[in-house]
Amino acid sequence: MEKIKMTTPIVEMDGDEMTRILWKMIKDELILPFVDLKTEYYDLGLPNRDKTGDQVTVDAALATKKLGVGVKCATITPNAQRMTEYNLHQMWKSPNGTIRSTLDGTVFRTPITIPSIHPAVKFWKKPITIARHAYGDVYKSVDIVTDEPGVAKLVFEGESGKREEVVVQQMKGPGVLQGMHNTDKSIRSFAHACFQYALSLKQDIWFATKDTIAKKYDGRFKAIFEEVFEEYKARFEEAGITYFYTLIDDAVARVMRSEGGFIWACKNYDGDVMSDMVSTAFGSLAMMTSVLVSPDGKYEYEAAHGTVTRHYYKYLQGEETSTNPIATIFAWSGAFRKRGEMDNLPELVKYADQLEGACFDTLNEGYATKDLVNLMEGITPKMLTSAQFLAAIRERLEKRLAA
Ligand code: NAP
Ligand code: MG
Repeated sequence: MEKIKMTTPIVEMDGDEMTRILWKMIKDELILPFVDLKTEYYDLGLPNRDKTGDQVTVDAALATKKLGVGVKCATITPNAQRMTEYNLHQMWKSPNGTIRSTLDGTVFRTPITIPSIHPAVKFWKKPITIARHAYGDVYKSVDIVTDEPGVAKLVFEGESGKREEVVVQQMKGPGVLQGMHNTDKSIRSFAHACFQYALSLKQDIWFATKDTIAKKYDGRFKAIFEEVFEEYKARFEEAGITYFYTLIDDAVARVMRSEGGFIWACKNYDGDVMSDMVSTAFGSLAMMTSVLVSPDGKYEYEAAHGTVTRHYYKYLQGEETSTNPIATIFAWSGAFRKRGEMDNLPELVKYADQLEGACFDTLNEGYATKDLVNLMEGITPKMLTSAQFLAAIRERLEKRLAA
């Protein structure tokens, strides 16, 4: 069989621990035999980030901006324990943070669903995608703990000399204070990324804040979304999809009673909390994909989970692990599909569809990794190691591609 051709390379970002092991296995079993793979390779494994003073992460982010499509393996975000484990020169920042700020992107997380794994919420029939605003609010806030009475004020000094001051609270005793911000630019980018992604998936988009309480702060989010939506209104009508705004508590209630099949745009904190709830309710973190979309249409695909450290330590002791590669495979298929669409390569798009199809065939026949075995219902699952599971997917992929 002739290998499927590519024209523009995909930015390939390698990573750490168990996912780095899976990364190579996925390439060897499911990609290289079938695709004439073109990538620009960046090793974002922690040793190489340390060696390059984290320049490699910056370079990979810039390459994604240039080439338009990237695929990333999970990476370690160093903490104090990793400093000693890897003998690091510095506690390097989260690579995802660096890539996100370079691309000014929004993260969309979607569960991969199969008939034998029932969501904890019985009404949910279709996946719910969470779009999390990845800038500002409490994540870029400052705070103070006070130990005496006094006055807390919020002050803004404009470059023009304009000054605004409001009293936050007359503190009668010890307490806590917090100051946070967001920017019109970031909120506007978020809105564009959301509306563009809704159009590309042809799904409704919901957005919610607490603008009845935070009248100015959340009110600004609501107003910017309304303003940006004007640019998309006609295309939404044409695609038969809608933009729906409501209050966050109303949104939570409606999400629980919905059938799914839409995108839920969330402010930073809401997205942090709700994405964990939604992913757990759909089944497993190992079945959650993540894509970073920039307002100018650049895409970076990855699994939502981390480097699966506990499994890696077992692997290092020579044990065969049953780590789930599905979300990482879907990161690759997402990148191939997008590259194929951008470069007008229908064969590459078809390969992406068949790769995902082969994963579904395998799972629907009951072959699964350990994390899924206990979740499957109405089927007798057979637990496989990662290597056996990938071989089973390959067998089905070969059949599909030969058909
Ligand atoms: P994690 O790697 O997602 O793993 C947490 C647990 O979830 C695992 O121990 C495992 O449970 C289960 N799990 C996750 N993915 C799985 C898979 N593919 N197959 C089977 N089980 C899976 O999170 P973590 O242990 O908190 O973080 C480990 C490292 O990953 C950290 O250094 C962190 O910085 C990094 N991280 C990176 C990213 C990213 O690059 N996007 C995201 C999150 C975390 P059991 O052990 O019970 O089997
Ligand atoms: Mg969270």
